[in-house]
Amino acid sequence: MFNIMETQVKTYRIATIPGDGIGKEVVPAGQRVLEAIAARNDAFNFEFENFDWGGDFYREHGAMMPADGLDAIRNKDAILFGSTGDPHIPDHVTLWGLRLKICQGFDQYANVRPTRILPGIDAPLKRCGPKDLDWVIVRENSEGEYSGVGGRAHQGHPIEVATDVSMMTRAGVERILRFAFRLAQSRPRKLLTVITKSNAQRHAMVMWDEIALEVSKEFPDVEWDKELVDAATARMVNRPATLDTIVATNLHADILSDLAAALAGSLGIAPTANLDPERRYPSMFEPIHGSAFDIMGKGLANPVGTFWSVVMMLEHLGETGAARQLMNAIERITADPALHTGDLGGTATTAQVTDAVCAILAAEPAAQFKAA
Ligand code: ATP
Repeated sequence: MFNIMETQVKTYRIATIPGDGIGKEVVPAGQRVLEAIAARNDAFNFEFENFDWGGDFYREHGAMMPADGLDAIRNKDAILFGSTGDPHIPDHVTLWGLRLKICQGFDQYANVRPTRILPGIDAPLKRCGPKDLDWVIVRENSEGEYSGVGGRAHQGHPIEVATDVSMMTRAGVERILRFAFRLAQSRPRKLLTVITKSNAQRHAMVMWDEIALEVSKEFPDVEWDKELVDAATARMVNRPATLDTIVATNLHADILSDLAAALAGSLGIAPTANLDPERRYPSMFEPIHGSAFDIMGKGLANPVGTFWSVVMMLEHLGETGAARQLMNAIERITADPALHTGDLGGTATTAQVTDAVCAILAAEPAAQFKAA
């Protein structure tokens, strides 16, 4: 008689959307890493479905994705996204036609961007030790300056007018600030900086400040302060260790997080998650870099930003052991200059970095991939 132990294997359904440019190189690399993780454990695996949406799809069909595209990915557990941007299609078409369509369609209102100086990375702040820069930027991802409200009239005439209205709702501001306070509370320093511009923008940003004060009362153990967005740029450079979790509007955080990525050494490393914290829809994980057409198709793209995004995906799925293993593997390869791609001053290729991460994962004990 055999004693057959039945084990429940969880299958996560992942939509992969490489998009444009180097997205077509880094997303398959991310998928390879996920497959390497699946091979190391018997508790979960992945089922991938690839979607060829983006600039080429636009040239063929006149749209960046099909009209019913959201329905095709609605039931996935997560989305791994590459980048969107095409030199022959206006940026607002590629952005609104694909990435923002997914973010807004699935109400992924919290955009989360961790920034750290990884081992072996030569970051530009000479007075800053690696431990001095350990931030998470929370970006409001559904309204504000990028709400899409506005219009143009009298086009081509001297009286032409164009508006982009920054629209902020109490519900939208409350939910992102509450998310940020909660995230700050979960981090060791329990420290939150709320970015504002209420000196010059005297309506919506004043409401933003008022709501921050209200929400802060729910989190008495979180220390928080306010900083004007312009002053925040100087503080990030001059006093990085005074920051931990940072929350800002859509536009402000867009700019601050590119600064953060540059301060941490390279755009090619930085990850981001577009989260629906209520989990009504799939969340989307992507490197923050764009399509980088200058290096496209050469196998030179740094896949680390995508791998770190995969770490965030695994955390979101609750696979904390696998997330930790992958982050350890990433830190081991960044510590090795022979595995630095061109953006980090090295000569390694996408394939070499990916092979190295997969090899590290393959050598780790299977038990380490179990969720804590
Ligand atoms: P987009 O218009 O789609 O935002 P972009 O090419 O203008 O894209 P990014 O892709 O964000 O801008 O990056 C700017 C430059 O940084 C690129 O041209 C490329 O040289 C470099 N770069 C960005 N990401 C990477 C990466 N993952 N690996 C290597 N180099 C990168």
